[in-house]
Amino acid sequence: MKTFQSLGLSKGLSDAVQLIGFETPTPIQEKAIPLLLTGNRDFIGLAQTGTGKTAAFGLPLLELVDDNSKETQALVLAPTRELGLQIVSDLENFSERFKKLNIVAVYGGASISEQIRKVKRGAQIIVATPGRLIDLLGKKAVNLTTIKYVVLDEADEMLNMGFKEDIDEILSTTPDTKITWLFSATMPKEVRAIAKNYMSDPEELTVGEKNTGNINIEHQYVVTQERDKYSALKRILDYNPEIFGLIFCRTRIDTQRIAESLMKDGYNADALHGDLNQAQRDRVMMKFRNRTLQILVATDVAARGIDVDNITHVIHLNIPDEMEFYTHRSGRTARAGRKGISIAMVSNRETGKLKQIEKILKATFVKIPVPTGPEVCQKQLLALMRKVHEVKVNEAEIETFLPAVYEELKDLTKNELIKRFASLEFNRFLEYYRNAPDLNADSKGNSADRGGAERYSTGDRFFINLGKMDELDVPTLLELLDDCCGITKKNVGKIDLKGAYSFFEVDKEKSADVIKGFEGMEYAGRIVRVEITDQKSGGGGSRSRGWERSGPKEGGRERSGNREGGHREGGSREGGSRERSVSGQRGKESREREGRNRGAGSSGSGYRPGNFEKKRKRY
Ligand code: AMP
Repeated sequence: MKTFQSLGLSKGLSDAVQLIGFETPTPIQEKAIPLLLTGNRDFIGLAQTGTGKTAAFGLPLLELVDDNSKETQALVLAPTRELGLQIVSDLENFSERFKKLNIVAVYGGASISEQIRKVKRGAQIIVATPGRLIDLLGKKAVNLTTIKYVVLDEADEMLNMGFKEDIDEILSTTPDTKITWLFSATMPKEVRAIAKNYMSDPEELTVGEKNTGNINIEHQYVVTQERDKYSALKRILDYNPEIFGLIFCRTRIDTQRIAESLMKDGYNADALHGDLNQAQRDRVMMKFRNRTLQILVATDVAARGIDVDNITHVIHLNIPDEMEFYTHRSGRTARAGRKGISIAMVSNRETGKLKQIEKILKATFVKIPVPTGPEVCQKQLLALMRKVHEVKVNEAEIETFLPAVYEELKDLTKNELIKRFASLEFNRFLEYYRNAPDLNADSKGNSADRGGAERYSTGDRFFINLGKMDELDVPTLLELLDDCCGITKKNVGKIDLKGAYSFFEVDKEKSADVIKGFEGMEYAGRIVRVEITDQKSGGGGSRSRGWERSGPKEGGRERSGNREGGHREGGSREGGSRERSVSGQRGKESREREGRNRGAGSSGSGYRPGNFEKKRKRY
């Protein structure tokens, strides 16, 4: 078995990594370190995240950099602040004994003057995100002409994030004699182009098979209708009470909504996306790193560079459009040789994409069923029993209270006691999942899901704050569109009537007429709100927001008809903190529907466009 020292590292550094707990080099370290230590060869490392690539380039870099000189000799470019900081932290840990070495992080969202001050003090190694480094170059606050080594980490990610021009500009200010090491999980042609333009005869090394995912990741998928995805997600979470998971959504809005819904439903979840400011993002990441947060819901961009070990599950609420995103998402689990599970939640329509990913990754997706209610209950019960086994009894302190407890329970047999004890914690779950529907979409159940979206892909989808509770029906809505907006049936696509609100599709060229036609309208004292939703395709089955339906009941609960909260299945938290388990803490069902406060409109007799028209505001 190889040791770090046998790879050519000095005793000081080998001891340092040993102290951190790295006993043997990972495959990429074993192959890359001896090569990079020569310091005279460009290098391409095709390696998944979590393979130990930071040490693979970091350790040779620390050996090669001369800490007696204050010149900036090495530049590491990384796609995100999170990854940049992680690299700095790793390098500092490795080089604790190198007292004269200054490693400076340069990244957006923090004081630029502070970073300039640190760079000017003399930084032998700068770890930077491209955008902020360009700012520093613009201010002439950094000198890259002395650079000997450039590392491009997660190069594919940097290009995905649109840093191509920044990278070009940065590299053009470094000397031609520099040595470049490029690391990337995937090798699209854009990364190839960088290698071609800036590297000469690079040594190329692939860890694992090219374009092959991390073999420690088990790729699974569930097929469920779009509108059931949120419920199915909760089933998956409930079925995995010990989950430490990352959930990916496509948009910031979806990310925020899913996280909020999960929180309202009692899960220990939070959101990470670009609408949060840096301090908020730092707070969320700190909670996740400390594991006080169990479920992080994130966008692809925000989650880049997340380097948290022991993530057990990555859940994709939908398949990303870019195949490479799938690799990056799922690569957040199964780090450092551990196992992890990636679960893609797909509608029947999306299963084709899985086949493409399978082909590219040479991985096999295993279909798993969305757990049924009884299966979740069984799993939760067993988790509860495990907790009973594992609970630490404080013998000394509980002793004084026990006689009274024994006295209280003396009439119960052991079996009765067990039953009651289990029910105490468990009734809410049983209640919640009683009559829970099957959420697995089979081909027959999904026809509506497929059809609607395709038919009106060129239309805009509108939200209107009127629904069945306002006695709105399809003929009435069509009449309304005709009367108010001059839009006839042939320009109208799928209509989706909900309890308190509805969606309808209209050909794009008529969209302005819709907005104008409903302007200033009132219904039963309420302003009528009509707006284009950000769902691109039509029907209740489009994209990931199908959970907004107010229709069927899940587990005997009535869903809220409220637009924002439509994906909540009641269940606010009921006392006590949930701590780290997703199990148990179901709140009482919130049976209130938004409609209760909707005034005369919902209870009034007859809803006809004529009535509606009369209530138009006069300006
Ligand atoms: P990286 O791919 O550099 O982000 O590393 C992924 C994880 O593996 C990090 O948590 C590292 O601390 C850890 N790691 C890297 N190299 C080793 C090693 N040789 N032995 C044990 N853990 C390692």
